Amino acid sequence: MNSMQKKPNVAIDGPAGAGKSTVAREIGKRLGLKYLDTGAMYRAITLKLIRNNIDLDDINALRSTLNRTVIRLGDQQEVYLDDEDVTEEIRKPFVNEMVSPVAAQSVVRRHLVALQQQIASETNGIIMEGRDTTSVVLPDADYKFYLDASLEERTRRRNREQQEKGISLSAEEVAIQILKRDNIDSQRADSPLTIVPDATIIDTTNMDFEGVVNEIIQIINTGKQP
Ligand code: C5P
Repeated sequence: MNSMQKKPNVAIDGPAGAGKSTVAREIGKRLGLKYLDTGAMYRAITLKLIRNNIDLDDINALRSTLNRTVIRLGDQQEVYLDDEDVTEEIRKPFVNEMVSPVAAQSVVRRHLVALQQQIASETNGIIMEGRDTTSVVLPDADYKFYLDASLEERTRRRNREQQEKGISLSAEEVAIQILKRDNIDSQRADSPLTIVPDATIIDTTNMDFEGVVNEIIQIINTGKQP
């Protein structure tokens, strides 16, 4: 592909722990697409709201906090909140607990979706993942995928990730957290997690990482989304 060629936009949605981030990051690397983790943005704003004790019912406080917050994602997937590196902080259980209620607020969504769309419009070729990237952020994406896996498998993957970070939670606690988030994310009024009709659904329960990456790359490379 020469550098002047138009590269594709790819959107991936799915529930918590389906493996979207690791898969999207790797595909971005292999295909030369910018990778955007939209969940990291919701996590960063959640951290700021927690630190500032902002009441989610106080729409003016929410709005003014959003307007004075700068969220930036680095090339190595570092996350900066007002220039502070919060990459590790935003993955902690206290943020997991609050992120879905924060992300259900329309004022927060409007702000972050605008930012995500602006980044996409300034980029030749992007792969983004989250809950509403196929439906709201990039409704005209060239390729759309919905990654899923059984609750048991998603719990196992999240548990392993957390253990690697030195966070110890029981499998049961992790499963409850995932279910709570999935419920809020798919039941909220504003842009809930949904499977759009033109997305390819991939159930990754019995697939390994390479298998998922290769299946998506094959669809993109052949230019055909079934
Ligand atoms: O992807 P991740 O698990 O880091 O996302 C954290 C949370 O951010 C989700 O549970 C969801 O509440 C919210 N989110 C969202 N829309 C997106 C991405 C994430 O509502 N596009």
